[in-house]
Amino acid sequence: MLRTIHLRSDLAFQRCILPECNGTASLDDTRFACPKCEGLMDVAYDWNKLPVPSSMAFFESKWSQRHLPRSFSGVWRFHDLLPFAPPEMVLTIGEGQTLLQRADLVAQYTGLNSGNLFLQYEGMNPSGSFKDNGMTAAFTHARMTGAKRAACASTGNTSASLAAYCSATGLMRGIVFIGSGKISYGKLAQALDHGALTLQIAGDFDDAMQRVQQVSRKLGIYLVNSVNPFRLEGQKTIMYRVLEGLRWEVPDWIVVPGGNLGNSSAFGKAFMELKELGLINKVPRLAVINAAGANTFNLLTGQNQVTWNQGKPDYKTTEKFFHAMDEKNLRASTIASAIEINRPVNLSKALRALEFCNGVVTEVTDQEILDAKAKVGAGGLGCEPASAASVAGARKLTGQGVIAPSERVVCILTGHQLKDPTATVAYHGADQKTFDEVLGVRGVRRAGFANRAVQLPNSLDDIIKAIEVFS
Ligand SMILES: *Cc1c(COP(=O)(O)O)cnc(C)c1O
Ligand SMILES: [Zn+2]
Repeated sequence: MLRTIHLRSDLAFQRCILPECNGTASLDDTRFACPKCEGLMDVAYDWNKLPVPSSMAFFESKWSQRHLPRSFSGVWRFHDLLPFAPPEMVLTIGEGQTLLQRADLVAQYTGLNSGNLFLQYEGMNPSGSFKDNGMTAAFTHARMTGAKRAACASTGNTSASLAAYCSATGLMRGIVFIGSGKISYGKLAQALDHGALTLQIAGDFDDAMQRVQQVSRKLGIYLVNSVNPFRLEGQKTIMYRVLEGLRWEVPDWIVVPGGNLGNSSAFGKAFMELKELGLINKVPRLAVINAAGANTFNLLTGQNQVTWNQGKPDYKTTEKFFHAMDEKNLRASTIASAIEINRPVNLSKALRALEFCNGVVTEVTDQEILDAKAKVGAGGLGCEPASAASVAGARKLTGQGVIAPSERVVCILTGHQLKDPTATVAYHGADQKTFDEVLGVRGVRRAGFANRAVQLPNSLDDIIKAIEVFS
């Protein structure tokens, strides 16, 4: 029986991202592929028929209504900008209570002027990563369609988030597909603790991703990976909160790590819509940062010169690229496991975002990532390795003169420090052996900002001496 709660289908629907295809699907379609060309879908709105606030400051009125779950949520207080769900269908666990922090020490490290670098800390979400912004939107849509089971493939954080939403809401059974070996214990622990059915596939993330798509379609399981356009609607709100933190002023740059490119795509869509609605007067530039060991987006947009090309991307070149990757059996490899992805599912949406935001793409090494992570930590916010790619990328682009020191830059810290303590402890280096075992194989040679634990005997004199020498 169809339990879909219908909004008027002319107000919100799904539309192919390719302007020339223009394939559409109804709001309750859960295939998440264009019926005409199999490509990616957007959630589209007829803004003319929807109530749109006249300025972003309108949302400040929600701050005084924090006793209401939908006003408390950092996603749903912007419901007017993702109006695909009736209010009573919204499923929230208090996501989006995040912080935009001015970070002068980190600014100095990146080469930016004091006062010009802000860190958008998404580690404060219920499951410790930005994924919760998307999951609340996907679960809301899943509930609208009457789904009983939800699945994802994950490098860790999507599964942690899915598992949390399943257990907190008690409405759906969660099934997570993970690759073998690569997932950090912090994230695996969350999936297990929250009771998700956890399937560890012999293969990597890209393998797990292909399987979960096949299986979901076959068994009619609701898919919450970022091919799900409703998830990206939730992730748009990260940008709304950045603007909120800057008193609705648009920064010059948004810098974000690129894995499956869901965030990059969602941010692009957020700014496309805000511009269309006349809610911003300028569009920030977007910088997407790959890890050097998972640099598909950088290679495609760089040496292969693939662009959105106003809605006609050069798919021949991308297909050739992936074919060559398969021939050589090239696998992604980086300490930043959350972005260890060679086949980003949102590639074409991210190309669109790049064109709209006059964006750039670059890559950073694991060494640069871990050094930047230590600087973020020393600056007061803890993040996981993938998150620090944004700061490492900002530093690289500033060094290259792409970003000017006088520009205002926001780096997205996508996940919490405690997600992956193994990398952190190895970097700060109890001993060389751990360092070599955990980081050396990844090509990390030195821990420039290591904060080593001091080993000493259990004696008062030695302890006092150590404190006087080292502090
Ligand atoms: C998922 C994830 C990313 C990658 O984001 P995409 O939207 O897939 O590009 C980066 N950092 C962390 C911590 C993540 O969990
Ligand atoms: Zn299409």
